[in-house]
Amino acid sequence: MSHEPIKTLPLVFDEPRGRKKPPRHLADLDEAGRKDLLTEMGLPGFRAKQLSTHYFGRLVHDPEEMTDLPGAQRAELVNALLPDLMNPIRQQEADRGKTVKTLWKLFDGSLVESVLMRYKDRATICISSQAGCGMACPFCATGQGGLQRNMSTAEIVHRVVVGARDGQR
Ligand code: SF4
Repeated sequence: MSHEPIKTLPLVFDEPRGRKKPPRHLADLDEAGRKDLLTEMGLPGFRAKQLSTHYFGRLVHDPEEMTDLPGAQRAELVNALLPDLMNPIRQQEADRGKTVKTLWKLFDGSLVESVLMRYKDRATICISSQAGCGMACPFCATGQGGLQRNMSTAEIVHRVVVGARDGQR
């Protein structure tokens, strides 16, 4: 009896070149950078702090919930610092809804997953920092697809923010 040799893919540590960058987001910038960006756009820099409080403190990114921002400027401010980064396209639940796996579609069509686990006294989330994977483990479908790209800071952080909000429910 003959066995086919297992084909092994090379390990990949560097992302493929020429990938488009995700939209710039509040979570990619430090406090000064957020303020500078708004000022360059002709918007009041101090609004950056309000947006940061909504996003990191209140875990909110829907402009309708940011009622302390002027109605006429709200959409512009949110578009400047809180652009859409990803959309959930499928959710699977286990453990009577306490564990939720979400498949996210990123701006360039890349797919990534997160898993939120709600416990009695805390919530834990499992997230990825890359789309695809360059480690090429032969038993893993993700590994066979190779590394697509590194995710931006905001793409990584955003799933933690959404998970922190959903973990409270
Ligand atoms: S198991 Fe899959 S995702 Fe994990 S390191 Fe190996 S190839 Fe990457």
